[in-house]
Amino acid sequence: MIIKKAEFVISNTDPGKCPLSEKPEFAFVGRSNVGKSSLINMLTGFGDLAKVSTAPGKTRLINHFNINDEWFLVDLPGYGYAKVGRTSRQQWLSFIRKYLAIRENLYCVFALIDSRHAPQANDLEFMNYMGEFGIPFAMVFTKADKLSRKQLDKNLTFYKNEMLKAWEVLPPLFVTSAGTKMGRDEVLEFIQNIVKDTK
Ligand code: GDP
Repeated sequence: MIIKKAEFVISNTDPGKCPLSEKPEFAFVGRSNVGKSSLINMLTGFGDLAKVSTAPGKTRLINHFNINDEWFLVDLPGYGYAKVGRTSRQQWLSFIRKYLAIRENLYCVFALIDSRHAPQANDLEFMNYMGEFGIPFAMVFTKADKLSRKQLDKNLTFYKNEMLKAWEVLPPLFVTSAGTKMGRDEVLEFIQNIVKDTK
């Protein structure tokens, strides 16, 4: 997919106020600092579309971006940052659940996972939640450039095995790096195929 246009549409603090969902929508979500903004900028090729965070976990905004006048890219607030307490996490969950429940044109949630870390309880919990409610999602491993190929393969194998304890079949999986653009073509092609099928 060639990104000809990537423009900010609106930020919302209330999922109920997001723009009408006449376009297919793809959301990006993950723990704060997972590399979400960097990934969004890498995918769109617009370096400053999403703000790379300096103070993780602070804003709770849903940002809609119009891509090629064809689909919405949605930047969801991050979760699980160490400085964010339990109450805050509960608030995050109810906020995200509301978003997931009402966006009829949500075709895929990209669940971002830092490829350096062992599976984290809140990431697994969130993916299980999506599975339970039939929300289509894909796993996106970030910051792959920070690991050797060997270590990366080891971590991915470990993660997949962990997922297979709860899942019969793994969701689509992408390995990315904002630095080297690894995974860019694969993610965009995946989105393009879905967008094409909605026409
Ligand atoms: P967000 O909080 O999830 O939006 O994460 P950011 O995109 O702000 O990134 C958090 C930190 O990780 C920043 O210091 C980024 O420069 C760094 N980062 C993000 N993606 C990558 C990547 O693919 N490779 C490397 N080496 N660093 C990354």
